[in-house]
Amino acid sequence: MPPSERAVLVIHGGAGVMPDHDYAEPAAFMAEILERGGRALRAGGEALDLVVEMVVAMEASGLFTAGKGSAANQAGEVELDASVMTGHDRMAGAVAAVRNVESPIRLALAVRERTPHVMLAGRGAEAFADQVGLPRISDPARYYAPAVARTARPGAVGATGPLTHGTVGAVALDRAGRLAAATSTGGTLSKLPGRVGDTPLVGAATWADARVAVSCTGQGEYFVRAAAAHDVAARMAYAQLPLDDAARQVIDAVGTLGGNGGLIAVDCEGNVAMPFNSGGMKRGVVGLDGKVVVEVY
Ligand code: ASP
Repeated sequence: MPPSERAVLVIHGGAGVMPDHDYAEPAAFMAEILERGGRALRAGGEALDLVVEMVVAMEASGLFTAGKGSAANQAGEVELDASVMTGHDRMAGAVAAVRNVESPIRLALAVRERTPHVMLAGRGAEAFADQVGLPRISDPARYYAPAVARTARPGAVGATGPLTHGTVGAVALDRAGRLAAATSTGGTLSKLPGRVGDTPLVGAATWADARVAVSCTGQGEYFVRAAAAHDVAARMAYAQLPLDDAARQVIDAVGTLGGNGGLIAVDCEGNVAMPFNSGGMKRGVVGLDGKVVVEVY
């Protein structure tokens, strides 16, 4: 784990992007948090803290389909998924189908740091949130309602139609050479109760090892079937591909299965890839020079 002159922080706000929609507000928010993240990166912040901080901010903003911005499932409940992983020790934590937890990524982090497990789901995860004192939502109708109203627009499709979706994620290489990835979502719009997508699955939406950190977004079922996040690492390790080619090939493989979405990834040399096959992907990057770039289409 040599120190890195090319430390970098990358975030995404989901690949569920509509054509010609105005994303100025989420894009401005992403630029704002990347400014902050860039300062922390320069100050020697740890990759794990950086990715969690970015995801917590996006969860709390209500501007993305994660945390506060999540939409209800077909039973009228918001069920959330999240996962986090660090590359140097391959430690991971995840939560699936949790309700009324303010920050699913913080809960995933607590699973990583305070249990011998990798994933907790449903009621057990909620009880664990109470046990470790993480904030819960006491009035979900009020907390999530504006987001539900915004997302459930006419023509929105359910679990049997094309999957409408959104997610947030972050990957980082810090100055000490550590890699980390984090992903959090409210899942696909009008999903069935209990549906769990790729986001909490280590190897599907989130992966970090000594070589690369990856966070995916898109139609989760396809990313699970492609083992997408780990497949980026595998193509780099076994086929000796550069990050760019590995990441692009994985999105092509998701597309071949019929899915759409994208991913963000950073390798141990500070190379960044952000391929997508959807109409767009909210994404942003900041390096040690402090220059922030945010793009949607
Ligand atoms: N991958 C997420 C899921 O299927 C949704 C998304 O990334 O937009 O739950």
